Amino acid sequence: MKNRHFSRREFIKRHSLTGLGVALTPSLLTQAAPAPAPVGPFSHSVAEPLALLGGKPVRAKEWPTWPIWKPETDEKQLLEVIRSGVWSRANVVTEFETKWAATVGSKRCLSVVNGTNALVASLAQFNIRGGDEVLVPAYTFIGTVAPVLATGAMPVFVDIDPETFQIDPAKIEAKITPRTRAIIPVHILGLPVDMKKVLAIAKKHNLVVIEDACQAHMAEIDHQKVGTFGDAGCFSFQNSKNMAIGEGGAIVSNNDAFMDRCFSYHNYGNPYGTVSGVIGIGTLIQGTKLRLTEYQAAIGLALLKRLDAETATRNENAAYLKAKIEKIPGIVPYKLYADVTRAAFHLFPFRFHQNEFKGLSREVFIKALTAEGVPCLKGYAPLNKMPYLEDTFQSKNYQKMYPKEMLDFKGYLDRNQCPQNDRICNEEAVWLTQNMLLGTRQDMDDIARAIEKVYTQADKLRAQK
Ligand SMILES: *Cc1c(COP(=O)(O)O)cnc(C)c1O
Repeated sequence: MKNRHFSRREFIKRHSLTGLGVALTPSLLTQAAPAPAPVGPFSHSVAEPLALLGGKPVRAKEWPTWPIWKPETDEKQLLEVIRSGVWSRANVVTEFETKWAATVGSKRCLSVVNGTNALVASLAQFNIRGGDEVLVPAYTFIGTVAPVLATGAMPVFVDIDPETFQIDPAKIEAKITPRTRAIIPVHILGLPVDMKKVLAIAKKHNLVVIEDACQAHMAEIDHQKVGTFGDAGCFSFQNSKNMAIGEGGAIVSNNDAFMDRCFSYHNYGNPYGTVSGVIGIGTLIQGTKLRLTEYQAAIGLALLKRLDAETATRNENAAYLKAKIEKIPGIVPYKLYADVTRAAFHLFPFRFHQNEFKGLSREVFIKALTAEGVPCLKGYAPLNKMPYLEDTFQSKNYQKMYPKEMLDFKGYLDRNQCPQNDRICNEEAVWLTQNMLLGTRQDMDDIARAIEKVYTQADKLRAQK
């Protein structure tokens, strides 16, 4: 196995020496002269015709499917629930909440209908409202930002660290104004945020910290699970997520008064815990209804049993794959911060540098890789410039809550520029999905081999659209 971990320079060397038509870049030519090397382990197969041009794909096998459901072990409790007729929130939901709190190491957990509403409830119960500003990273899913707008607050976008794809702590303080009330660090792609720095800034400026851990189940910083660093942590159990129920979400926190308010809010504002009043007085606070069902909780309990082992597999495969593909010129995999002890790898991201691929566009690279049997995605578009913001700013509520200058869309776009995020979104990011990381070492070898094949023959794809 050892010879598979050859260096980036050796990679180029091997492919150039075996006559695959790799042009050395001038900077590489000035490096140490290549000694004759044995033929690389992939040299033969990467010279085969590209699948996009009619050749045989590197891989024809299916990838592991998602979600995973095993009738033998997963259905007992679910069937009991269905046959009981108790489908609305009761003991099974409570059991799921207790187990999720224990899993992440939080005092309390409240399940809700989805991750988006976990964030809405959290913002509302920390009293984030119209006129407030909330800091969010530019690189995230719309499910982070929609809740900010739902509470009437103003999202303020912070640029990212392109090496980690996470919010750049060095860019946060410049975005803080007298209106800033909260920050939502998003452990995007399932890779942890630099939380120590974020927490220090939040403390200094007295900001509420609501972690969006919707992609980061079981990820850890210094052996502590993400979602437990801030004032609250929010999770999603949507079908694609590493903990999949179909739809579902959770709020975790050690703050009893906050969690009691969240519980009350998710149940029409009815009394709960410290949200109590005179018996018989009825609804106490402004609420809505966000309750999970018993059968959703039964599905969650079944999948929770495998989550730790699956997370371990994703981490092992990601580390193995990263070590292999970072040797390929123009492929720059994610970096983790030094204190990260485990990631979730909802996605496996790398940056694609077109100049190392003979000017090949990212779109064609993705098509070529997909044709080789390795499906991949370009990921998010910049959320800080989309029409939903302007639509919200034109609403009657926003016009009443904010001065005109704050709602001028051009001015907003100027203040919210995030050039690093633009580059990642528009040019560089490529994702592999988490289900692929549940495969074998050979599956990871297939991914590396497919990328190497496209790299060595990039010149043949230049005419492609
Ligand atoms: C999925 C997701 C959400 C929203 O969760 P839903 O359960 O789909 O509502 C929010 N933030 C991020 C980063 C997500 O990936």
